[in-house]
Amino acid sequence: MTTTFPRPETLEATRPRFPVWPASTRPAAHGDLTVGGVSLAEAAERFGTPVYLVDEDEVRARCRTYREAFPDAEVYYAAKAFLCRAMAHWVAEEGLGLDVCSRGELELAVTTGFPAEHMVLHGNAKSPDELEAALRLGVGRIVIDCTTEIARIAALVPHGSRQRVLLRIAPGIAAGVHPAVRTGTVDQKFGLSSTDGTAQLAIARVLEQPRLELVGLHCHLGSQIDSAKPYLQAVRRMVALLHWTRQTHDVLLPELDLGGGHAIAYRPGEDALDIRALASRVRAELRSACTTVDLPEPRLLLEPGRAIAGPAGIALYRVLAVKQSGRHTFVAVDGGMSDNPRPALYGVRYAPCLVGRTASAELRPVDVVGRHCEAGDVIASGVELPADIRPGDLLAVPASGAYHLSMASGYNLVGRPPVVAVTGGTARLLVRRESLADVRSRDVGL
Ligand SMILES: *Cc1c(COP(=O)(O)O)cnc(C)c1O
Repeated sequence: MTTTFPRPETLEATRPRFPVWPASTRPAAHGDLTVGGVSLAEAAERFGTPVYLVDEDEVRARCRTYREAFPDAEVYYAAKAFLCRAMAHWVAEEGLGLDVCSRGELELAVTTGFPAEHMVLHGNAKSPDELEAALRLGVGRIVIDCTTEIARIAALVPHGSRQRVLLRIAPGIAAGVHPAVRTGTVDQKFGLSSTDGTAQLAIARVLEQPRLELVGLHCHLGSQIDSAKPYLQAVRRMVALLHWTRQTHDVLLPELDLGGGHAIAYRPGEDALDIRALASRVRAELRSACTTVDLPEPRLLLEPGRAIAGPAGIALYRVLAVKQSGRHTFVAVDGGMSDNPRPALYGVRYAPCLVGRTASAELRPVDVVGRHCEAGDVIASGVELPADIRPGDLLAVPASGAYHLSMASGYNLVGRPPVVAVTGGTARLLVRRESLADVRSRDVGL
């Protein structure tokens, strides 16, 4: 398979103009935009709306950025951000592993040929059949999140073999934009606290299990973290625990998994976490922390999700209704919280823009809302759109590739939108639209 990648100078040339769009984004005639050489207006016509486009080259370029910034690390794409078979192929071809947190994610990837040994299985509540499937398929690493899991997993490992495991630590660090995505603190459901001795006890328990091979420690601080600082703090705390393990058990754990959580820009003016800067600061911190306690540097593992899939995705909606209500102008589109629950969950806002026609009308602030039966179904509030915005217009929402469709629901039986890959001027359907027939086929009782 041949793929063309945006050259660095073209990347620089397009980013200032389209700061939160894929590098391949170009203006086209009649107010249209092209992404991956594909006209957004034509894609909307051909596939219908709402529709999600994924720029394959952007996904691949982002995988490469990680590989280049962290050449000695193992990078696992966090499948929960967005997974389909093509996505699994792309990240595998770019040399990334896969971070999965359910049997569904695991088996979808395995059935498309993704090697299970390059996967990490997560989850704060793994079901017996999930663990059974993971062991049967030969998943590379299982991340233990709970003390009771230790004996459960060990009991499932066949006689004579060993399962590599990591222990998930809650290092007591608050990072991330919203309480719902802060997973590094000690007062939430993930991980084992290193401050009250739970983590230390779990380390001892795992080391006692002959069928488990403790290869390292894991932490995932949260999501949409826009500074390197929490990661540096995590490095220090995790190295302290690796040091403790050596001192107490005379065991050198070879791996340190720092999870994901790297922020992306959703709207112009927002800052993404700079991956190259993160890499050099994390490496320096790791070196210094390890030197201080005379510990060999562990191999780093990373699990970015959003920063790989998010900026590569674009949602296209058709305007269905425009309404003046009080001081607000509401522009309602044909999708919303069933394809993107993030605004309702975390109060986040996007930067939609009009595509497919030139508008001469002045700009005015409007609220872009979804079509669902919830007042919280808001995509953007107070965004500037042409005053003559009307039903039939097309709105494109950049930075829509992560945690939209993977969290999509069947609310209002609207049906989940299709996913279309764009690259080199061609568009191909990856996931078809959910139809009423799909919904009807599950509804088996009366
Ligand atoms: C969600 C998650 C990730 C990915 O987080 P992003 O914010 O998408 O980078 C990585 N590791 C674990 C354990 C996660 O739960």
